[in-house]
Amino acid sequence: MKKEKCIICRKPLNDGIIINGRGICVNCEGRIIKAKANTDFYEYYKNCIRKTLVQCLPRGVTKDCQNYHL
Ligand SMILES: [Zn+2]
Repeated sequence: MKKEKCIICRKPLNDGIIINGRGICVNCEGRIIKAKANTDFYEYYKNCIRKTLVQCLPRGVTKDCQNYHL
């Protein structure tokens, strides 16, 4: 089974939450909950999500296309 990693601190995800298939460890989850919408950390967190989604999306599409054409 693939070990999930926290998308924010990149540590192995032993404990935490999964949002849209992305893992977030308890430490970062706690920071997000405490963070208000305009803090630097919240901006950083949003950038992490966006970056992760952008990285994953083309890969998934390519894989699906290859399977489709085979
Ligand atoms: Zn983390």
